[in-house]
Amino acid sequence: MVDDDGVLTSMLSTRSRTLSSQASSQTSCVTIFSDGVQLFDHKRPGYQSVMSSMWEQLDKDQLSLIVSRPCATNPLWLTMLLEELRMFGDFRTLDSKIEKVSDSVDSLLTDIVNRIIAEDDTGLVKKSLCLLACAIESIQLHDLSNMLGDISNKEPVAPLYWSQTRRVLSPYIKEIGVQSNISFYHMEIRRIVSQLLITNHGREWYKLLALYYTKWCPDERSRSLFAPTYCLNANLKVELLEFYDKDPAAELIHDRLRSQHFKNLRCQSQATVTSQLFPVVICQFCSTKTCRKKFRIQNKDCCVVCKSSLTFKNVVANLCNFHAFGHNDKYGKCLYCNMIVPKENSNVKNMMGNVGKLCMNCSFGHVHKKCAMVSIK
Ligand SMILES: [Zn+2]
Ligand SMILES: [Zn+2]
Ligand SMILES: [Zn+2]
Ligand SMILES: [Zn+2]
Repeated sequence: MVDDDGVLTSMLSTRSRTLSSQASSQTSCVTIFSDGVQLFDHKRPGYQSVMSSMWEQLDKDQLSLIVSRPCATNPLWLTMLLEELRMFGDFRTLDSKIEKVSDSVDSLLTDIVNRIIAEDDTGLVKKSLCLLACAIESIQLHDLSNMLGDISNKEPVAPLYWSQTRRVLSPYIKEIGVQSNISFYHMEIRRIVSQLLITNHGREWYKLLALYYTKWCPDERSRSLFAPTYCLNANLKVELLEFYDKDPAAELIHDRLRSQHFKNLRCQSQATVTSQLFPVVICQFCSTKTCRKKFRIQNKDCCVVCKSSLTFKNVVANLCNFHAFGHNDKYGKCLYCNMIVPKENSNVKNMMGNVGKLCMNCSFGHVHKKCAMVSIK
């Protein structure tokens, strides 16, 4: 009788001549009797009464009209339909409204999304839907209300507009946990919103999310969880590099993930693999400079790409032809200060500096053959 996303089992009890169907999903259980509907929402217990009261207001013909629809056993369809009828409010024309309601979950949800956007003159409903559709899982309540405001000036949306938007969205979203993580009430709603509203791979929304989590979000943990992915999805490489450079939240990110993020910031050319190999060179002075204050790692002990601490598993970092400009058999150029560093047999001359290394993650597979320059052009 269960399933993961709302499809269900239905029972037509012929014995008692009552129509009954039962449905459950991760979030809700619906039971329809000829004299009423019982809906239990695990996430929002208060929802039950709303549903039942709507059901009670329908007459017998309207009830059988609904129950006879092929989608009546789908809890999502039924929930959304009852919500639509509740919003509709005009009982004289309710019959025709029920008849006109779309017979598939997709088209019913499409109608709903179009309706709530059309009825909203602030544009905030659409903005919220798009942000939630692009979000990794969910967005914290206060973050969303900030994002609906002016991100560059750090001004949250006006409280009146926010509560109005929240009220309109409430049947279609859920809030979970002490942080009030907001996401769609059902995955199907997210899918339909993405289909209808997200164009150009969501670039404009990822840009907003990236700006928010790099420039404003007060919570360090949230910044570390979301800033890099949103920057990458929005193709904001400069912002990602700046985040890693300046935000203490970046230090919460695990080495493996660091390396994965920096992979996208790395020069994509092959390193020169011919007889004259051009290793990354670090001068004596820069070698002992601290590069990540929190961990007091020196440049010579960290990966030249992602700045993770080097372990015994590391390889020499090489440059492509283009980035090896100024390097030759006898001289290299310090990666950090451009100072000329003498070489001997394509290695850095003793006591003159160090050869740059790649960490285990940045050299995994064939990646070590790629140029080790971080280049965001
Ligand atoms: Zn249940
Ligand atoms: Zn690395
Ligand atoms: Zn290169
Ligand atoms: Zn240097």
